[in-house]
Amino acid sequence: MNKRWVVGNWKLNKTCAEARAFTEGLRAQLQSLAGDVTCIIAPPFTALQTVASAGPDVGVAAQNIYGQDAGAFTGEISAPLAAEAGARYTLVGHSERRALFHETDGQCAQKLTAAARAGLCPILCVGESAQDRAQGRTAQVVEQQLEGACGRYLQGQEGPLMVAYEPIWAIGTGHTPAPEDAQAVHAVLHQALGALMPQGAAAVPLLYGGSVTADNAAAFVSQRHIHGVLVGGASLTLQSFVRIAQVLSA
Ligand code: PEP
Repeated sequence: MNKRWVVGNWKLNKTCAEARAFTEGLRAQLQSLAGDVTCIIAPPFTALQTVASAGPDVGVAAQNIYGQDAGAFTGEISAPLAAEAGARYTLVGHSERRALFHETDGQCAQKLTAAARAGLCPILCVGESAQDRAQGRTAQVVEQQLEGACGRYLQGQEGPLMVAYEPIWAIGTGHTPAPEDAQAVHAVLHQALGALMPQGAAAVPLLYGGSVTADNAAAFVSQRHIHGVLVGGASLTLQSFVRIAQVLSA
């Protein structure tokens, strides 16, 4: 797969005015990207429309959706509402959602189906804790998360899908796995996807996330099964996000 993806997860950061300034700046620099790189921004819900209104050349992702389309679910945002606001992708099962809001694989499964119903491409996040890693359980944990969330989704009707491997201990810490170790986990995910969707696994983009910067991005995407990056902290400033996209396009 020659195509590359860079997804910026802004988390709970940026006003609409800040999102507009960033996205206009990003659009102005897209022509500096040589290769086939898709830039996607996951802003807070309030800025989805602002980012989307910059034009179709910047992809827009929700950071989360609810598993139901409508109803008495105070405070939630559904996939159709995110799509109406301009989202074309959605993160599902980010480790902060799993840890802080107790999201389960079963809920992720519902969200994948809800995303597909609304025409959103889900970006499923999986990853092990430091303890799992120390106990040698990384492959088992990510396979379980993948199968728990995607098993039924992929058995029914194969929808669009991206998967991000984000070791929890690497998120926001400045620590990363060696690119070869990340590749080994991506190979496990690639193989597990192959068992779930024999025809389509090769077309599922696999991203690495966790303390990605412009200095380490190239080493990750040069690995066989790493097609892009999911970036938190380094996506908050235009310069560092564009530098990562440029590295991926080189
Ligand atoms: C993330 O939260 O998805 C992430 C990868 O964060 P960071 O790049 O800051 O580690």
